[in-house]
Amino acid sequence: MSLPKPPITVQELVARGAPQGMDEAQLVAVTRYWRQLLETRTPEGNDHVVGMVGNIAQRSLANVVPPGTFACKRGCFHCCHWHVGLFAPEAFRIARQLRKTPKVRDALAGVAAQIVGVKPFDRPAMRLPCALLVKGACSIHPFRPHSCRAFMSIDVADCIDSLIGGPRQIRSVEVYDRAEGRIGLAFLAAVTAAGLFARSYEINGILAMLLDDPGLEARWYAGEDVFAAHDDGLTDTRGAIAETLSDLVFLATRPL
Ligand code: SF4
Ligand code: SF4
Repeated sequence: MSLPKPPITVQELVARGAPQGMDEAQLVAVTRYWRQLLETRTPEGNDHVVGMVGNIAQRSLANVVPPGTFACKRGCFHCCHWHVGLFAPEAFRIARQLRKTPKVRDALAGVAAQIVGVKPFDRPAMRLPCALLVKGACSIHPFRPHSCRAFMSIDVADCIDSLIGGPRQIRSVEVYDRAEGRIGLAFLAAVTAAGLFARSYEINGILAMLLDDPGLEARWYAGEDVFAAHDDGLTDTRGAIAETLSDLVFLATRPL
């Protein structure tokens, strides 16, 4: 099927990003467009949205802060031992890649089995890495979830301390957090506005399910909560975010 064409505002966002965070017009335009694509409930529409989330994030976030601000680099993977949540559309796109490397299914299922009943914030104490961490690097780096792409730290000591149970917070940079937060908000609003489950799922569990049964994607589009067992409960749309999210969903849904 042919997908709707992106409006100029979205084309510009994909080409140049929004390093200071999207303004209101950009936020509404991108949410509306992603909503239209997700409403097609097709792998093509789905993957187009998720690819754009990654492209806009890459172009927006690369230039937010001077090079060297963040300590993150290839081969640094303490953060891959924490809980990782992602939205189902991201999992669908990653699963399409993983089907090309069938051996990974057992690794994902193995991690998923070990964390049954473990709360997200208890996960670091297990020292159990994500099954997609291979030889010290993310094996799906170009397709990694937005939560992994966006998670950055200015000091690796924060990450190590947190991993071993220390009290430190992972320090980031405010302007970066604001730009990243607007991209995440647009994605969350688009999934909500499309009438899909706007929930975060544990990465190993949902991917193992999808590798076992590719038909789950169509059932999820049809409104069946097939991934409920891996809902991590971390999609909190109450409090400060609630009003902004509901305004954005309204603006992205109303007729032009
Ligand atoms: S978030 Fe922390 S552990 Fe992860 S790459 Fe950055 S510095 Fe390393
Ligand atoms: S998907 Fe990649 S970046 Fe994210 S936790 Fe797993 S190995 Fe690390």
